[in-house]
Amino acid sequence: MNVADRATAGFRQRYGVEPAGRWAAPGRVNLIGEHTDYNDGFVLPFALPLRTVVAAAPAPDGRWTVWSELDDEPVEFGAAEADEPGRVDGWAAYVAGVVWALRADGHDVPGARLAVASDVPVGSGLSSSAAIESAVLAALVDLGGLDLPAERWPRLAQRAENDYVGAPTGIMDQSAVIRGRAGHALFLDCRTEEVEQIPFDLDGARLAVLVVDSRAPHRHADGEYAARRRGCEHAATALGVTALRDVPVAGLDAALARLGDDETRRRVRHVVTENQRVLDTVALLRAGRVRDTGPLLTASHVSMRDDFEITVPEIDTAVEAALSAGAYGARMTGGGFGGCVLALVDAGAADAVAAAVTEAYAERGFTAPGTLTVLPSSGVTRLG
Ligand code: ADP
Ligand code: MG
Repeated sequence: MNVADRATAGFRQRYGVEPAGRWAAPGRVNLIGEHTDYNDGFVLPFALPLRTVVAAAPAPDGRWTVWSELDDEPVEFGAAEADEPGRVDGWAAYVAGVVWALRADGHDVPGARLAVASDVPVGSGLSSSAAIESAVLAALVDLGGLDLPAERWPRLAQRAENDYVGAPTGIMDQSAVIRGRAGHALFLDCRTEEVEQIPFDLDGARLAVLVVDSRAPHRHADGEYAARRRGCEHAATALGVTALRDVPVAGLDAALARLGDDETRRRVRHVVTENQRVLDTVALLRAGRVRDTGPLLTASHVSMRDDFEITVPEIDTAVEAALSAGAYGARMTGGGFGGCVLALVDAGAADAVAAAVTEAYAERGFTAPGTLTVLPSSGVTRLG
């Protein structure tokens, strides 16, 4: 059964009636621009063909009941629980958080019954969290006829995750999941929050992106993330700029000369050069030179591995194996210390590259990776 049918079947079985509609939101992957978001910089994510589907109908009692195929037990809550971050916990907090964010924004959110099914792997860095938030948001906006233009959805979904769930994420995930467009990547300026659709016609170029789920255990990811973030903030202060975004590549050497220790210099070099790589990738894509972006992807990986030091052996193995098997470029995607790798490959070679990565993993005794070939797909939609 496909994911939309599973959501419908789950709804029928749970509630004994037909849903009023179904809403689908994709996972996302970041093509390039890592650890640039909190430095006021640039990112370039795109929406995946894997989706989370929410089947929903209004509930006359004004309460919310949500069931997910990931859990046997449905969770029910009312306005009192939704209005107090922390009252609903576990996975249903992502749903209660959306109700909370909408109510806090002044909307009269309709009570609803919801059933969730998903093809987005959970906790792999492909943003199953933004997918469930965005699908629920779209469902509630439609069911309630709420006056909320789509430009405002990413911020509200982010608030649900930051302030209700308590996960400190940036605006990238929700922007990609909500605003993504088939055949395009989303160029996002994290300082101004301006977005631009950039043609990313893999299909036309007979290319594909292979996504490898490294299955590496997340080792100290939270602490290391916080440390990188602090390091960047201190470096910006030392350089007298608001954020590392304000250091241009042309001024990098001069900036590095003003920094005391080698580790800080390498961290700064990653962020400054990574921002430039995003801009260079956008320029190549605008010119239709999709394949030529490969070396920028690989340079991004080398920078994360050697300067920002956020990769792990499984991730480096996947990148090296993909490149050896003929990928045009490959890099870790996401915050690091695990998560996924993406590789730009000939569409016809995707299976062979995936097999080469799986073999390299086996040789080193790593848990077998997950592999998946993707094209940039559309953001949140109503299915009917
Ligand atoms: P990622 O976004 O990379 O997949 P996160 O840790 O940010 O990882 O979000 C994963 C969490 O989101 C899950 O642990 C769960 O609480 C919630 N979630 C995501 N998708 C679903 C789903 N289909 N059903 C229930 N909860 C989900
Ligand atoms: Mg997430």
